[in-house]
Amino acid sequence: MSHKSTLYENVVTQLNRAADRIDLDPDIRKILTNTTNEISINFPVRMDDGRIEMFTAYRVQHNNVLGPYKGGLRYHPSVDIDEVRALAAWMTWKTAVANIPLGGAKGGIQFDPSDYSRSEIERITRRFTYALGSNIGPEYDIPAPDVNTNPQIMAWILDTFLSTMPPQERQRCFHVVTGKPIESGGSEGRNKATGQGVVFLIERWAQDNAVDLNGATYFVQGFGNVGSWAARLMKANGVTLVAVEDQTGAISNPEGIDPEELLKFTDDQEGVSGYPNAKPIDHQTFMKTEADIFIPAALENQITADTAPLLNVRLIAEGANGPTDLEGDRIIQGKGINLLPDILCNAGGVTVSYFEWLQNKRSEFWDLEEVDRKLHRIMIRAYERVRDAAQEHDVDWRTAAYIVAITRLAKVYKERGIFP
Ligand code: NAD
Repeated sequence: MSHKSTLYENVVTQLNRAADRIDLDPDIRKILTNTTNEISINFPVRMDDGRIEMFTAYRVQHNNVLGPYKGGLRYHPSVDIDEVRALAAWMTWKTAVANIPLGGAKGGIQFDPSDYSRSEIERITRRFTYALGSNIGPEYDIPAPDVNTNPQIMAWILDTFLSTMPPQERQRCFHVVTGKPIESGGSEGRNKATGQGVVFLIERWAQDNAVDLNGATYFVQGFGNVGSWAARLMKANGVTLVAVEDQTGAISNPEGIDPEELLKFTDDQEGVSGYPNAKPIDHQTFMKTEADIFIPAALENQITADTAPLLNVRLIAEGANGPTDLEGDRIIQGKGINLLPDILCNAGGVTVSYFEWLQNKRSEFWDLEEVDRKLHRIMIRAYERVRDAAQEHDVDWRTAAYIVAITRLAKVYKERGIFP
Protein backbone atom coordinates (compact mmCIF):
# COMPACT_ATOMS: atom_id res chain seq x y z
CA MET A 1 0.00 0.00 0.00
CA SER A 2 1.38 3.42 -0.86
CA HIS A 3 2.12 5.66 2.08
CA LYS A 4 1.09 9.32 1.91
CA SER A 5 3.92 11.14 3.59
CA THR A 6 3.14 13.21 6.66
CA LEU A 7 3.90 16.91 6.92
CA TYR A 8 6.97 16.28 9.05
CA GLU A 9 8.23 13.64 6.60
CA ASN A 10 7.90 16.31 3.90
CA VAL A 11 10.04 18.67 5.98
CA VAL A 12 12.69 15.97 6.35
CA THR A 13 12.64 15.31 2.58
CA GLN A 14 13.07 19.04 1.92
CA LEU A 15 15.95 19.11 4.42
CA ASN A 16 17.60 16.06 2.89
CA ARG A 17 17.48 17.55 -0.59
CA ALA A 18 19.43 20.57 0.56
CA ALA A 19 21.72 18.50 2.78
CA ASP A 20 22.62 16.20 -0.15
CA ARG A 21 23.40 19.19 -2.30
CA ILE A 22 25.94 20.63 0.14
CA ASP A 23 27.16 17.31 1.51
CA LEU A 24 26.06 18.18 5.01
CA ASP A 25 27.91 16.40 7.81
CA PRO A 26 25.76 13.31 8.57
CA ASP A 27 25.92 14.00 12.32
CA ILE A 28 24.44 17.46 11.86
CA ARG A 29 21.80 16.05 9.56
CA LYS A 30 20.86 13.62 12.33
CA ILE A 31 20.47 16.45 14.82
CA LEU A 32 18.43 18.70 12.52
CA THR A 33 16.13 15.85 11.50
CA ASN A 34 14.89 15.55 15.07
CA THR A 35 12.93 17.85 17.36
CA THR A 36 14.37 18.63 20.80
CA ASN A 37 11.32 18.67 23.08
CA GLU A 38 7.74 17.66 22.45
CA ILE A 39 5.22 18.66 25.06
CA SER A 40 1.76 17.13 24.86
CA ILE A 41 -0.87 18.33 27.31
CA ASN A 42 -4.45 17.38 28.08
CA PHE A 43 -6.23 19.89 30.28
CA PRO A 44 -9.77 20.55 31.53
CA VAL A 45 -11.69 23.81 31.06
CA ARG A 46 -15.10 24.77 32.41
CA MET A 47 -17.56 25.78 29.69
CA ASP A 48 -20.12 28.58 29.98
CA ASP A 49 -22.87 26.05 30.76
CA GLY A 50 -20.90 24.59 33.69
CA ARG A 51 -19.66 21.44 31.91
CA ILE A 52 -15.98 20.48 31.86
CA GLU A 53 -14.39 19.83 28.49
CA MET A 54 -10.95 18.27 27.93
CA PHE A 55 -8.55 19.83 25.42
CA THR A 56 -5.41 18.48 23.77
CA ALA A 57 -2.53 20.82 23.03
CA TYR A 58 1.11 20.64 21.95
CA ARG A 59 4.28 22.65 22.07
CA VAL A 60 7.17 21.34 20.03
CA GLN A 61 10.62 22.88 20.43
CA HIS A 62 12.63 21.93 17.39
CA ASN A 63 15.98 23.65 17.82
CA ASN A 64 17.48 26.47 19.91
CA VAL A 65 21.09 26.53 18.85
CA LEU A 66 20.70 30.04 17.37
CA GLY A 67 18.66 31.47 20.24
CA PRO A 68 15.50 30.94 22.33
CA TYR A 69 12.73 28.81 20.84
CA LYS A 70 10.25 30.95 18.91
CA GLY A 71 7.03 30.18 17.11
CA GLY A 72 3.30 30.70 16.87
CA LEU A 73 0.32 29.08 18.52
CA ARG A 74 -2.45 27.72 16.33
CA TYR A 75 -6.05 27.03 17.34
CA HIS A 76 -7.47 24.60 14.80
CA PRO A 77 -9.17 21.18 14.75
CA SER A 78 -6.42 19.77 12.49
CA VAL A 79 -3.64 20.53 15.00
CA ASP A 80 -1.76 17.32 15.79
CA ILE A 81 1.76 16.39 16.84
CA ASP A 82 2.96 15.82 13.28
CA GLU A 83 1.72 19.21 12.07
CA VAL A 84 3.23 21.01 15.06
CA ARG A 85 6.57 19.24 14.54
CA ALA A 86 6.66 20.39 10.92
CA LEU A 87 5.71 23.95 11.79
CA ALA A 88 8.36 24.02 14.54
CA ALA A 89 11.09 22.85 12.16
CA TRP A 90 10.07 25.46 9.58
CA MET A 91 10.54 28.09 12.30
CA THR A 92 14.12 26.88 12.85
CA TRP A 93 14.92 27.24 9.14
CA LYS A 94 13.08 30.57 8.91
CA THR A 95 14.95 32.34 11.70
CA ALA A 96 18.19 30.98 10.26
CA VAL A 97 17.34 32.30 6.77
CA ALA A 98 16.39 35.69 8.21
CA ASN A 99 19.59 35.64 10.26
CA ILE A 100 17.94 36.50 13.56
CA PRO A 101 19.12 34.98 16.85
CA LEU A 102 16.11 32.77 17.58
CA GLY A 103 15.33 29.09 17.37
CA GLY A 104 12.25 27.21 16.18
CA ALA A 105 9.13 26.06 18.01
CA LYS A 106 5.40 25.86 17.44
CA GLY A 107 2.30 25.03 19.42
CA GLY A 108 -1.37 24.57 19.08
CA ILE A 109 -4.62 23.53 20.65
CA GLN A 110 -6.77 21.03 18.78
CA PHE A 111 -10.16 22.75 18.64
CA ASP A 112 -12.26 25.03 16.48
CA PRO A 113 -12.52 28.39 18.25
CA SER A 114 -15.57 29.37 16.19
CA ASP A 115 -17.53 26.81 18.25
CA TYR A 116 -16.65 28.56 21.54
CA SER A 117 -17.56 31.84 23.24
CA ARG A 118 -15.00 34.57 23.87
CA SER A 119 -14.91 33.80 27.59
CA GLU A 120 -14.41 30.08 26.88
CA ILE A 121 -11.52 30.89 24.53
CA GLU A 122 -10.02 33.07 27.25
CA ARG A 123 -10.23 30.25 29.82
CA ILE A 124 -8.84 27.71 27.32
CA THR A 125 -5.92 30.06 26.58
CA ARG A 126 -5.20 30.79 30.23
CA ARG A 127 -5.40 27.17 31.30
CA PHE A 128 -3.10 26.10 28.44
CA THR A 129 -0.59 28.82 29.39
CA TYR A 130 -0.71 27.67 33.01
CA ALA A 131 -0.25 24.05 31.94
CA LEU A 132 2.78 24.99 29.84
CA GLY A 133 4.31 26.56 32.96
CA SER A 134 8.06 27.02 32.65
CA ASN A 135 8.12 25.25 29.29
CA ILE A 136 7.73 28.76 27.90
CA GLY A 137 9.60 31.84 29.11
CA PRO A 138 10.98 35.17 27.90
CA GLU A 139 14.51 33.83 27.44
CA TYR A 140 13.49 30.28 26.67
CA ASP A 141 10.47 29.81 24.41
CA ILE A 142 8.36 32.70 23.12
CA PRO A 143 4.95 32.06 21.51
CA ALA A 144 3.24 34.38 18.99
CA PRO A 145 0.04 34.45 16.90
CA ASP A 146 -0.72 31.97 14.13
CA VAL A 147 -3.93 30.63 12.59
CA ASN A 148 -6.96 31.67 14.69
CA THR A 149 -4.90 33.39 17.37
CA ASN A 150 -4.44 37.14 17.63
CA PRO A 151 -3.12 39.99 19.84
CA GLN A 152 -5.97 39.56 22.35
CA ILE A 153 -4.99 35.93 22.90
CA MET A 154 -1.34 36.98 23.31
CA ALA A 155 -2.47 39.50 25.99
CA TRP A 156 -4.20 36.68 27.93
CA ILE A 157 -1.07 34.53 27.67
CA LEU A 158 1.04 37.43 28.95
CA ASP A 159 -1.31 38.14 31.83
CA THR A 160 -1.51 34.47 32.86
CA PHE A 161 2.24 33.98 32.66
CA LEU A 162 2.94 37.15 34.69
CA SER A 163 0.35 36.15 37.28
CA THR A 164 2.27 32.95 37.95
CA MET A 165 5.59 34.82 38.45
CA PRO A 166 6.78 36.33 41.72
CA PRO A 167 5.67 40.02 41.74
CA GLN A 168 9.29 41.27 41.66
CA GLU A 169 9.95 39.46 38.38
CA ARG A 170 6.85 40.43 36.43
CA GLN A 171 8.20 43.61 34.82
CA ARG A 172 11.10 41.62 33.42
CA CYS A 173 8.91 39.10 31.63
CA PHE A 174 6.89 41.06 29.07
CA HIS A 175 8.82 39.40 26.27
CA VAL A 176 7.40 35.96 27.10
CA VAL A 177 5.07 36.37 24.13
CA THR A 178 5.08 38.55 20.99
CA GLY A 179 2.29 39.82 18.78
CA LYS A 180 0.77 41.52 21.82
CA PRO A 181 -1.55 44.53 21.49
CA ILE A 182 0.58 47.69 21.36
CA GLU A 183 -0.72 48.98 24.71
CA SER A 184 0.27 45.69 26.37
CA GLY A 185 3.87 45.82 25.13
CA GLY A 186 3.38 44.97 21.47
CA SER A 187 5.32 46.49 18.59
CA GLU A 188 4.22 48.89 15.92
CA GLY A 189 3.99 47.01 12.65
CA ARG A 190 3.71 43.49 14.13
CA ASN A 191 0.14 42.94 13.03
CA LYS A 192 0.91 43.60 9.37
CA ALA A 193 4.48 42.25 9.52
CA THR A 194 4.02 38.92 7.75
CA GLY A 195 1.96 40.47 4.93
CA GLN A 196 4.41 43.36 4.74
CA GLY A 197 7.36 40.99 4.40
CA VAL A 198 5.56 39.10 1.62
CA VAL A 199 4.96 42.37 -0.25
CA PHE A 200 8.56 43.60 0.21
CA LEU A 201 9.74 40.38 -1.44
CA ILE A 202 7.20 40.52 -4.26
CA GLU A 203 8.41 44.06 -5.00
CA ARG A 204 11.98 42.85 -5.09
CA TRP A 205 11.13 39.85 -7.27
CA ALA A 206 9.30 42.18 -9.69
CA GLN A 207 12.38 44.42 -9.87
CA ASP A 208 14.70 41.46 -10.57
CA ASN A 209 12.37 40.04 -13.21
CA ALA A 210 11.43 43.29 -14.93
CA VAL A 211 7.78 42.88 -14.00
CA ASP A 212 5.77 46.09 -13.71
CA LEU A 213 3.54 45.55 -10.69
CA ASN A 214 1.41 48.50 -11.65
CA GLY A 215 -1.28 46.82 -13.73
CA ALA A 216 -0.27 43.28 -12.73
CA THR A 217 -2.80 40.87 -11.17
CA TYR A 218 -2.78 38.45 -8.27
CA PHE A 219 -5.04 36.25 -6.18
CA VAL A 220 -4.87 35.22 -2.56
CA GLN A 221 -5.94 32.19 -0.57
CA GLY A 222 -6.76 33.01 3.06
CA PHE A 223 -7.99 36.43 4.08
CA GLY A 224 -6.90 36.41 7.71
CA ASN A 225 -3.93 38.22 9.18
CA VAL A 226 -1.41 37.35 6.46
CA GLY A 227 -3.70 37.32 3.41
CA SER A 228 -5.65 40.48 4.19
CA TRP A 229 -2.55 42.49 5.11
CA ALA A 230 -0.69 41.33 2.01
CA ALA A 231 -3.71 42.33 -0.09
CA ARG A 232 -4.02 45.77 1.48
CA LEU A 233 -0.31 46.45 1.02
CA MET A 234 -0.29 45.19 -2.57
CA LYS A 235 -2.87 47.83 -3.38
CA ALA A 236 -0.29 50.60 -2.97
CA ASN A 237 1.68 49.01 -5.86
CA GLY A 238 -1.29 49.23 -8.20
CA VAL A 239 -1.64 45.44 -8.43
CA THR A 240 -5.19 44.18 -9.02
CA LEU A 241 -6.66 41.52 -6.73
CA VAL A 242 -8.77 39.26 -8.96
CA ALA A 243 -9.80 36.36 -6.68
CA VAL A 244 -9.89 35.46 -2.99
CA GLU A 245 -10.61 32.20 -1.18
CA ASP A 246 -11.11 31.51 2.48
CA GLN A 247 -12.79 28.90 4.65
CA THR A 248 -16.24 30.05 3.49
CA GLY A 249 -15.61 29.81 -0.28
CA ALA A 250 -14.00 31.58 -3.22
CA ILE A 251 -14.89 34.75 -5.12
CA SER A 252 -13.61 36.33 -8.31
CA ASN A 253 -13.77 39.61 -10.18
CA PRO A 254 -11.36 40.19 -13.09
CA GLU A 255 -12.07 43.92 -12.82
CA GLY A 256 -10.60 43.92 -9.32
CA ILE A 257 -11.65 43.38 -5.71
CA ASP A 258 -10.94 46.20 -3.28
CA PRO A 259 -9.13 44.65 -0.27
CA GLU A 260 -10.25 47.37 2.18
CA GLU A 261 -13.86 47.00 1.14
CA LEU A 262 -13.62 43.21 1.32
CA LEU A 263 -12.12 43.48 4.79
CA LYS A 264 -15.05 45.59 5.97
CA PHE A 265 -17.34 42.90 4.61
CA THR A 266 -15.44 40.00 6.27
CA ASP A 267 -15.33 41.90 9.58
CA ASP A 268 -19.13 41.77 9.64
CA GLN A 269 -19.59 38.36 8.04
CA GLU A 270 -17.88 35.02 8.60
CA GLY A 271 -15.73 35.29 5.47
CA VAL A 272 -15.55 36.33 1.84
CA SER A 273 -18.51 34.24 0.71
CA GLY A 274 -21.45 36.44 -0.26
CA TYR A 275 -19.32 39.51 -1.03
CA PRO A 276 -21.52 41.48 -3.42
CA ASN A 277 -18.85 42.93 -5.77
CA ALA A 278 -17.53 39.58 -6.99
CA LYS A 279 -18.97 36.32 -8.21
CA PRO A 280 -18.72 33.02 -6.32
CA ILE A 281 -16.46 30.40 -7.90
CA ASP A 282 -15.50 26.84 -6.97
CA HIS A 283 -12.09 25.77 -5.68
CA GLN A 284 -10.87 24.41 -9.03
CA THR A 285 -11.78 27.62 -10.85
CA PHE A 286 -10.09 29.60 -8.10
CA MET A 287 -6.84 27.64 -8.50
CA LYS A 288 -7.03 28.15 -12.27
CA THR A 289 -7.26 31.94 -11.94
CA GLU A 290 -5.16 33.63 -14.60
CA ALA A 291 -2.89 36.14 -12.86
CA ASP A 292 0.73 37.14 -12.44
CA ILE A 293 1.02 36.20 -8.77
CA PHE A 294 -0.59 33.73 -6.35
CA ILE A 295 -0.29 34.28 -2.59
CA PRO A 296 -1.30 31.19 -0.62
CA ALA A 297 -1.93 32.50 2.92
CA ALA A 298 -4.15 29.87 4.52
CA LEU A 299 -3.09 26.35 5.47
CA GLU A 300 -0.60 23.73 4.35
CA ASN A 301 -0.89 21.25 1.42
CA GLN A 302 -2.88 23.47 -0.94
CA ILE A 303 -0.59 23.21 -3.98
CA THR A 304 -0.51 19.48 -4.69
CA ALA A 305 -0.53 16.93 -7.50
CA ASP A 306 -4.21 17.81 -7.97
CA THR A 307 -4.02 21.60 -7.93
CA ALA A 308 -0.51 22.51 -9.12
CA PRO A 309 -1.34 21.60 -12.75
CA LEU A 310 -4.17 24.16 -12.63
CA LEU A 311 -1.97 27.12 -11.71
CA ASN A 312 -1.57 29.83 -14.27
CA VAL A 313 0.82 32.34 -12.66
CA ARG A 314 4.42 33.56 -12.88
CA LEU A 315 5.11 33.69 -9.15
CA ILE A 316 3.93 31.92 -6.00
CA ALA A 317 4.68 33.91 -2.84
CA GLU A 318 4.11 31.58 0.10
CA GLY A 319 2.55 33.59 2.91
CA ALA A 320 1.36 30.36 4.54
CA ASN A 321 3.62 27.71 6.02
CA GLY A 322 3.88 24.58 3.91
CA PRO A 323 1.23 25.42 1.29
CA THR A 324 3.07 23.36 -1.34
CA ASP A 325 3.64 19.64 -0.90
CA LEU A 326 6.49 17.68 -2.52
CA GLU A 327 4.58 16.74 -5.65
CA GLY A 328 3.22 20.29 -5.95
CA ASP A 329 6.79 21.57 -5.83
CA ARG A 330 7.88 19.24 -8.60
CA ILE A 331 5.00 20.34 -10.83
CA ILE A 332 5.45 24.09 -10.35
CA GLN A 333 9.16 23.75 -11.07
CA GLY A 334 8.30 21.89 -14.26
CA LYS A 335 5.95 24.70 -15.23
CA GLY A 336 8.69 27.27 -14.66
CA ILE A 337 6.73 29.14 -11.99
CA ASN A 338 8.96 31.22 -9.71
CA LEU A 339 8.67 30.61 -5.99
CA LEU A 340 9.29 32.67 -2.88
CA PRO A 341 9.34 29.76 -0.39
CA ASP A 342 7.60 30.00 2.99
CA ILE A 343 10.76 29.96 5.13
CA LEU A 344 11.88 33.09 3.29
CA CYS A 345 8.62 34.69 2.22
CA ASN A 346 6.69 34.76 5.50
CA ALA A 347 9.67 35.54 7.76
CA GLY A 348 8.40 39.11 8.29
CA GLY A 349 6.20 37.96 11.18
CA VAL A 350 8.97 36.39 13.22
CA THR A 351 11.29 39.27 12.34
CA VAL A 352 9.00 41.90 13.84
CA SER A 353 8.32 39.51 16.73
CA TYR A 354 12.08 39.62 17.28
CA PHE A 355 11.89 43.45 17.24
CA GLU A 356 9.07 43.35 19.79
CA TRP A 357 11.10 41.00 21.99
CA LEU A 358 14.11 43.34 21.78
CA GLN A 359 12.02 46.43 22.55
CA ASN A 360 10.56 44.72 25.64
CA LYS A 361 13.99 43.61 26.85
CA ARG A 362 15.39 47.12 26.44
CA SER A 363 12.27 49.04 27.55
CA GLU A 364 12.22 50.79 24.18
CA PHE A 365 9.47 51.70 21.78
CA TRP A 366 10.27 51.99 18.08
CA ASP A 367 8.04 53.91 15.69
CA LEU A 368 6.54 52.32 12.60
CA GLU A 369 9.06 53.91 10.27
CA GLU A 370 11.93 52.31 12.19
CA VAL A 371 10.23 48.90 12.32
CA ASP A 372 9.45 48.91 8.60
CA ARG A 373 12.94 50.08 7.65
CA LYS A 374 14.60 47.34 9.71
CA LEU A 375 12.14 44.72 8.46
CA HIS A 376 12.80 45.71 4.85
CA ARG A 377 16.55 45.38 5.33
CA ILE A 378 16.30 41.92 6.91
CA MET A 379 13.84 40.62 4.29
CA ILE A 380 15.88 41.88 1.34
CA ARG A 381 19.14 40.51 2.72
CA ALA A 382 17.47 37.13 3.23
CA TYR A 383 16.14 37.29 -0.34
CA GLU A 384 19.62 38.01 -1.67
CA ARG A 385 21.16 35.15 0.33
CA VAL A 386 18.59 32.71 -1.06
CA ARG A 387 18.92 34.04 -4.62
CA ASP A 388 22.72 33.72 -4.45
CA ALA A 389 22.51 30.20 -3.02
CA ALA A 390 20.09 29.20 -5.81
CA GLN A 391 22.61 30.43 -8.38
CA GLU A 392 25.66 29.00 -6.68
CA HIS A 393 24.20 25.53 -6.18
CA ASP A 394 21.96 25.56 -9.23
CA VAL A 395 18.86 24.62 -7.24
CA ASP A 396 15.27 25.80 -6.86
CA TRP A 397 14.56 28.56 -4.34
CA ARG A 398 13.11 26.29 -1.65
CA THR A 399 16.23 24.12 -1.66
CA ALA A 400 18.33 27.29 -1.73
CA ALA A 401 16.56 28.66 1.35
CA TYR A 402 17.21 25.36 3.15
CA ILE A 403 20.87 25.53 2.13
CA VAL A 404 21.16 29.03 3.63
CA ALA A 405 19.49 27.84 6.85
CA ILE A 406 21.35 24.60 7.39
CA THR A 407 24.71 26.07 6.45
CA ARG A 408 24.27 28.58 9.27
CA LEU A 409 23.09 25.97 11.76
CA ALA A 410 25.89 23.57 10.78
CA LYS A 411 28.50 26.29 11.37
CA VAL A 412 27.28 26.80 14.92
CA TYR A 413 27.35 23.06 15.68
CA LYS A 414 30.87 22.83 14.26
CA GLU A 415 32.02 25.79 16.37
CA ARG A 416 30.38 24.71 19.60
CA GLY A 417 30.70 20.96 19.28
CA ILE A 418 28.45 18.44 20.97
CA PHE A 419 28.42 18.22 24.76
CA PRO A 420 29.97 16.35 26.55
P1 NAD B 1 -5.65 33.56 10.23
O1 NAD B 1 -6.36 32.65 11.17
O2 NAD B 1 -5.61 35.01 10.53
O3 NAD B 1 -6.26 33.37 8.74
C1 NAD B 1 -6.38 32.12 8.14
C2 NAD B 1 -7.19 32.30 6.86
O4 NAD B 1 -7.20 31.07 6.13
C3 NAD B 1 -8.66 32.65 7.10
O5 NAD B 1 -9.07 33.61 6.15
C4 NAD B 1 -9.37 31.31 6.86
O6 NAD B 1 -10.73 31.48 6.45
C5 NAD B 1 -8.52 30.76 5.74
N1 NAD B 1 -8.69 29.32 5.57
C6 NAD B 1 -8.72 28.37 6.53
N2 NAD B 1 -8.94 27.16 5.97
C7 NAD B 1 -9.02 27.36 4.64
C8 NAD B 1 -9.24 26.51 3.53
N3 NAD B 1 -9.41 25.19 3.69
N4 NAD B 1 -9.26 27.04 2.29
C9 NAD B 1 -9.10 28.37 2.10
N5 NAD B 1 -8.89 29.25 3.12
C10 NAD B 1 -8.85 28.73 4.37
O7 NAD B 1 -4.18 32.97 10.09
P2 NAD B 1 -2.85 33.72 9.62
O8 NAD B 1 -2.15 34.17 10.83
O9 NAD B 1 -3.17 34.67 8.54
O10 NAD B 1 -2.01 32.49 9.03
C11 NAD B 1 -2.16 32.04 7.70
C12 NAD B 1 -0.93 31.24 7.30
O11 NAD B 1 0.22 32.07 7.42
C13 NAD B 1 -0.63 30.01 8.15
O12 NAD B 1 -0.01 29.04 7.35
C14 NAD B 1 0.36 30.52 9.17
O13 NAD B 1 1.13 29.50 9.75
C15 NAD B 1 1.16 31.44 8.28
N6 NAD B 1 1.95 32.46 8.99
C16 NAD B 1 1.35 33.34 9.83
C17 NAD B 1 2.12 34.30 10.46
C18 NAD B 1 1.52 35.36 11.36
O14 NAD B 1 2.26 36.27 11.75
N7 NAD B 1 0.25 35.33 11.67
C19 NAD B 1 3.50 34.35 10.25
C20 NAD B 1 4.08 33.45 9.36
C21 NAD B 1 3.29 32.51 8.74
